Amino acid sequence: MKSKGAVYLVGAGPGDAGLLTLRGAELLRRADVVVYDLLVNPALLRLARDGAEMISRGRRADFSQEKINGLMVSRAREGKIVVRLKGGDPYIFGRGGEEAEALAAEKIHFEVVPGVSSIVAAPNYAGIPLTHRAHCSSFTVFTGHENPADEKTNLRYEQIAKIPGTKVVLMGTDKLDGWTKSLIAHGMPPETPVAIVESGTLGKQKSVSGTLATIAKLAAAKKISPPALTIIGDVVKLSGKLNWFESLPLFGKKIVVTRPIGMDTVSASSNFKDGGTPSLANRLAELGADVLEIPTIKITLPTEKDAIVDALLGLNAYDWLVFTSANGVTAFFDLFFRRFHDMRDLGGARIAAVGPATAAKLRELHLQVDLMPDAATAKKLAAAFAKFESIENLKMCLLRAEVANRELPAALEELGAIVDDIAIYKTVPETEDRTGAGVRLLESGADWITFTSGSTVEHFHARFDLPKLLKKFPQMKIASIGPETTKTIRALGLEPAFEAKEHATDGLIAGLLAAKK
Ligand code: SAH
Repeated sequence: MKSKGAVYLVGAGPGDAGLLTLRGAELLRRADVVVYDLLVNPALLRLARDGAEMISRGRRADFSQEKINGLMVSRAREGKIVVRLKGGDPYIFGRGGEEAEALAAEKIHFEVVPGVSSIVAAPNYAGIPLTHRAHCSSFTVFTGHENPADEKTNLRYEQIAKIPGTKVVLMGTDKLDGWTKSLIAHGMPPETPVAIVESGTLGKQKSVSGTLATIAKLAAAKKISPPALTIIGDVVKLSGKLNWFESLPLFGKKIVVTRPIGMDTVSASSNFKDGGTPSLANRLAELGADVLEIPTIKITLPTEKDAIVDALLGLNAYDWLVFTSANGVTAFFDLFFRRFHDMRDLGGARIAAVGPATAAKLRELHLQVDLMPDAATAKKLAAAFAKFESIENLKMCLLRAEVANRELPAALEELGAIVDDIAIYKTVPETEDRTGAGVRLLESGADWITFTSGSTVEHFHARFDLPKLLKKFPQMKIASIGPETTKTIRALGLEPAFEAKEHATDGLIAGLLAAKK
């Protein structure tokens, strides 16, 4: 073989990012080129490395199957690793078979990674087991895409109507009226239970149940649109009892998370890390919410780097290292381990954390926190120090964001401490919308926007004009993590629906759950 290029047809699963296989995730991380379909959850794209070429099949009519095949072949011939990411399983109604044939014909090395098909996943997330001993012992899958009246249709409705067991119909919810009538005409009882699931396994999942006779009307009333599939058979009756997903406490709530990616993301990568603190976005998704991740800031190196170098070299001289955010912890240790390879180089300073999220990040590194105030404010932190010990003449290193305000260093200096205020990271506006969540928000609003810091409020406002957005979507409410954040929200003439009692992710989630009731 001339090159090491290869193409992997990877099943992305039905929607929920957690349903990608481990093999799929590994290949995505390794890919030089990712070609993906519209059905693929964009959150998965974050698994690809920075700089990987991302090609969306999109809705563009000019992106023909031939073009896709040609693209995969030419990139592989250049020696690249191409991941062709397809919704569900690549070999189920997705022309994956044709793509593999094209690769085989060109003698390109290819592998196919199965995916969790919507066939099994969407019914499951609507509370419907496809088989059940009390109801059936088989299931049949067909497409509703073909018009039953069409002479050329490959489907024999008279035969399908006679097959016992559950039936799953992919596609064709727009032709529902036609094929349900056809099944009845060929002898299926009109009262046969039927359910439709739209966007199964995602927070925006919608489902409707009825019968063969009523489902077309019900689906039209509920404005069911693709991707959706239909389940026919007695097992549909179990959904009332088994609908675990739609019964989750935040199901049906569309919630915007504005935290920076990398620090807090729903990307599948963070699901795979063992240990670690699950992100706000992940936790909301686990509670059934439809999470729109719209990070408005991203974390980069600070402008002034000399001060960091000095601080790192002089770490031994400090009595206290003070962290005021989880981002600060991540950024600091990123830089620390670039220079040192041994945790003992941290020296013997005590460690303070402003709140539980910061402390949790430190504990991930097996560092115990010596001091944490009961509320995450500058005043409380200073008061906690005063209570802990006299900090007069003690050397303190604050590891914070660039342009953090002077309140905390001033309060500590007032107590006699010698404070080095080191900018360890900088937040810059995030303008990219890789996942399309920003567009979705502008088009259809949300139930909640969550803010976890003053700077996310400011950057979000700069990008979306918060008061204007709320005027457009008056049902949308704001959730604030704490007083500093609330202050920034109020500066825009707005009021949060609630401020978290505990100024941390837990508090924010508790507030959302309470507001639901
Ligand atoms: N290969 C895919 C199917 C591709 S055909 C798989 O294995 O799932 C596209 C059809 O799949 C859609 O029209 C719809 O019927 C179904 N589908 C895909 N994702 C879905 C989802 N999340 N919820 C419901 N139906 C889905």
